[in-house]
Parts: sequence; C-alpha cells; structure tokens
Amino acid sequence: MMNKLVMATNNANKLREAKEILSPLGIEVLSQQEAGVNCDPDENGSTFAENAMIKAKAVYEACGLPVIADDSGLCVDALGGRPGVHSARYAPKGQECAKLLGEMKDVPDEKRTARFMCNIALITGTESRIFEGRCEGSIGYEMRGSNGFGYDPVFMVGERTMAELSADEKNSISHRGAALRELCSYLNEGNGE
Ligand code: IMP
Repeated sequence: MMNKLVMATNNANKLREAKEILSPLGIEVLSQQEAGVNCDPDENGSTFAENAMIKAKAVYEACGLPVIADDSGLCVDALGGRPGVHSARYAPKGQECAKLLGEMKDVPDEKRTARFMCNIALITGTESRIFEGRCEGSIGYEMRGSNGFGYDPVFMVGERTMAELSADEKNSISHRGAALRELCSYLNEGNGE
C-alpha cells in the first residue's frame, strides 16, 4: 500500500490533524514544505471538491509525489449554507467565531443547525479522486474551549463545542477524520499505486 503522502496545505492545524489520523493507519504525511514545495494557489473554485483539486494539482505538479489536499468549511443552515467555501475568508483570522455569533444572535435553537464539510483530493501518478466527510452539529451562543481551530469554539456536538473535545475525540467524529478514513480504506484496497 502507498504509505507516504504530501499534504498540500499551509494550515498547520489541518496538517496536524491529518498526521494524527493517518499515522496510526500506517500512512506518513509530509507537509508541502518538507517536500520542498512552496505554493499557495488561488482557490477560485465554487465547491470544496474543486478547491481541493486545485490545491492538490498545484503541489503534485511541483513535486511529482502522491498528494492530498483538504478543502473544508462550515455550512450554517440559517445563513443559507454560508460561510461554506468562503469559511477561511469570512472574517479576519481569530474573529470568525465572534462574527458568526453576531449573525446568529436572533436565530432560535431549532434553526441553529450546521455542518462541517471536508473534501480531500488525492492525486497520484495514476489517478485523481475526491473523498468526502461531514460532521453535523449546531451553532452555540458563546465561544467555549481552547482546542482545535477556526470555528471549533462555537460548533456544538451534543453538549460540548468541538474546541472542548480532545484531539482524539475530535478526530473520531470530525469531517476531516471521516474523509481521511475513507481515503485510507481506498488506499488499503491497493488503489492509487
Ligand atoms: P480552506 O483552507 O480554504 O479549506 O479553509 C477552511 C476554513 O474552514 C478554515 O480556515 C476554518 O476557518 C474552517 N474550518 C475547516 N475545518 C475546520 C475545523 O475542523 N474546525 C474549525 N474550523 C474549520
């Protein structure tokens, strides 16, 4: 089975989570820096899948090694699916939760449903493919917890926010965990060689 992948990302949190999830499954994840690639392509696609493919392709063309790329975001029902593919650009870094809580302040409990979505693109010498994962939850009323990143402090799964979960707890239920485990089973079947 393929046991080494380059991850096309400049996001240290995504890289850490991918390493946490894939290394126990026997797959080593290298950052794009470790693979000697320095690139930050324009993510101008209109879906998570398109953007994941754009990032994977840019890094694959630069290094020729098997590559994965994550494109992910938060889709809030009361906001018609926003911020969605624009999650990274919704607010200045560190202010996304406060802005979202402001937009959601008059939304009642039952309309606060949301989901994290993740698409992982895989490109190898023989194929390109997309894997998908999602995590259902709802938007809380205040920021809680200090683990994780991005919208984790306002994303409720049961009684806790994603930022109150341990790394292992988050990885076992997260959108990224689901997509990466799907990728891993695919590679375990001998694909992508
Ligand atoms: P991307 O780098 O364009 O895929 O942007 C993804 C953005 O979605 C991140 O910058 C976060 O704001 C948000 N996001 C994605 N995954 C997570 C997660 O696991 N927790 C919290 N926020 C996330």
